[in-house]
Amino acid sequence: NSKEEGGKHASFFKKQMEKSFSEKMILDHSLHEAIRENQFELYYQPKIDSNTEELSGMEALIRWQHPEYGIISPSTFIPIAEELGLIFEIDKWCIFQACKQNKAWHNKGYPDMPVSVNLSAKCLYEPDLISILKSSLEATGLDAKYLKLEITEGVFIRDPDLVIDKIKKINQLGIAISIDDFGMGYSSLYHLLHLPIQEIKIDKIFVQDINKDEKQGAIVNMIISLAHRLRLNVVAEGIETKEEVNRLRQYQCNEFQGYYYSKPLNHKEFTQYLINTDKK
Ligand code: C2E
Ligand code: MG
Ligand code: MG
Ligand code: MG
Repeated sequence: NSKEEGGKHASFFKKQMEKSFSEKMILDHSLHEAIRENQFELYYQPKIDSNTEELSGMEALIRWQHPEYGIISPSTFIPIAEELGLIFEIDKWCIFQACKQNKAWHNKGYPDMPVSVNLSAKCLYEPDLISILKSSLEATGLDAKYLKLEITEGVFIRDPDLVIDKIKKINQLGIAISIDDFGMGYSSLYHLLHLPIQEIKIDKIFVQDINKDEKQGAIVNMIISLAHRLRLNVVAEGIETKEEVNRLRQYQCNEFQGYYYSKPLNHKEFTQYLINTDKK
């Protein structure tokens, strides 16, 4: 029932967010402790090629294994970490960890495939970001083509020129950029026009019940066609049924991700997943 406890804890945290400065200090302390004590763990969710139905990549998703409260979901603590200015510490760790794990799988002889890491848009304003990316690749020996960064929209507004420039620098390293939760931000089309990105991920809100709502189908179909005209790769997330897969394939979506294929797995479970797909 760690999920249940996580849920209880999630609401505890939500309340905390609205609370006083001194209480936020306590959270600040426990997040610092989490960083120091290595309480974070990366889970990996498979991405599937829509043509071959084969594994085409994976997304790294962070979990906080709290000594008292059990597993805490990122949607609970990432916003707090952003607010407290701790997000770069956390995302740095994720980048390094994901590169290291991916390289380890390559070395063990599993098929080479990219790992996508979520990067808080706040980190785009960190002067050290580029050198952190470089040193993570160098230290782990992972080729840049096996690392992608997923950035949620919404962010870019504050200083578009700086963000465009930063994304170009990331691209120059050979790292692809993906816009996460596409369609949920408030200037999706502006971003498509101006940001030098390589991929969009259609938010699960648009994927769920795609067959029950004609409007929704029309929008997803349009997003995919538009993205393809711009030569972008399209991933659909939050796929839970065969019907959703069929419809998205009809619209020529490139990659699929969701519980229908697999939940996010810890590194041991993901290794088993690799072994199982190898045998097929
Ligand atoms: P996201 O990047 O859009 O990730 C997709 C979320 O949907 C994940 O939640 C995933 O577990 C969940 N999901 C996957 N398939 C399904 C499905 O079929 N149905 C449903 N209902 N959900 C599905 P998760 O792992 O709780 O992560 C939530 C968000 O937290 C992520 O959304 C991402 O924005 C953020 N996040 C996760 N890890 C990191 C990280 O290392 N750094 C940063 N900055 N943000 C992170
Ligand atoms: Mg993501
Ligand atoms: Mg998303
Ligand atoms: Mg998100």
